[in-house]
Amino acid sequence: MTAQIIDGRKIAHVLKAEVTAEADDLRAQGTSCGLATVVVGDNYSSRAYERRLGRIATELRVRHEQVDLTADITQDEVLETIRRLNEDPAVSGILVLRPLPSHISEIEVFRALAPGKDIESVHPENVGLLALGTPRFVPSTAASVFHLLDAWLDSVGEDRASFYHRSLIVVVGRSNNVGKPAISLAYDREAAVMSVDEWASKEGRLGWHTRQADVLVVAAGVAGLIRAEHVRAGAVVIDVGINPLADPATGTVHMVGDVDFDGARARARAIAPVPGGVGPVTDVWLIRNTVAAARAANRH
Ligand code: NAP
Repeated sequence: MTAQIIDGRKIAHVLKAEVTAEADDLRAQGTSCGLATVVVGDNYSSRAYERRLGRIATELRVRHEQVDLTADITQDEVLETIRRLNEDPAVSGILVLRPLPSHISEIEVFRALAPGKDIESVHPENVGLLALGTPRFVPSTAASVFHLLDAWLDSVGEDRASFYHRSLIVVVGRSNNVGKPAISLAYDREAAVMSVDEWASKEGRLGWHTRQADVLVVAAGVAGLIRAEHVRAGAVVIDVGINPLADPATGTVHMVGDVDFDGARARARAIAPVPGGVGPVTDVWLIRNTVAAARAANRH
């Protein structure tokens, strides 16, 4: 079997058009959509992600405010910045990028966000709403995983509900920002759900779990963790991992996923690759949430 490729770039392209139309419609009604990204310190990946989001926001005609704070800023100053953004009518969505420096309390910063502008659902109220199956905003990476799955199911003419009802979804990795929200969304689709973390690998049980998966979602941050022998024949594999890998010959760095693509492709029914799978949709989803936040604020 050679798996179909779930083309995240193509799916993101369609989503971009929808989000742009929605933002244009709001603007015509006098409501502006604005994304504020907050980076504290000089983390290379955060800055790169911030620049990428800025480019996509501009492309989708959504205003972007880049708030770069120095690593020695105090917690009170960060909270003051969040309060300013909460009050700013030109900002409809706020994203605080991780990691924060160790002297800043992540949970205090997340608690300070206005829930209606918390587009990545990190405020405890929004985390709770997501866990209850009534999310205000669906966090972008987990949303992207299921958006890809839904789009693929539509493309092969499978009924979404009956596919999920008869599927076991195994999620490798259970971080607060990716794995746990993905598990919540799998519950919402009324699938059978299994969550696997690093202990499964340490105990030599990873394959025992993953080989049961009808849908295998991998978000561990370990390059090549999932190989052909971890994949059940006919499974659908969604690779979330993004890992920098240097070519030993040239030193050139490129990004690889958590899944050995060639090995998994030979066994799976469909696979979302890295790059070109989850990532492109994640970025657009964040802008989508920013636009949805503007629309919701406009209703009040
Ligand atoms: P994280 O916070 O480091 O969490 C990793 C999770 O994977 C933890 O639950 C950890 O288990 C588990 N894990 C680690 N090693 C494992 C192993 N050998 N076997 C099984 N489970 C293992 O990372 P994250 O923020 O969730 O991100 C995960 C990956 O997704 C990263 O590569 C990241 O770059 C990528 N990512 C991609 C996107 C996108 O849009 N494509 C967005 C966000 C993140 P414990 O709980 O036991 O520690």
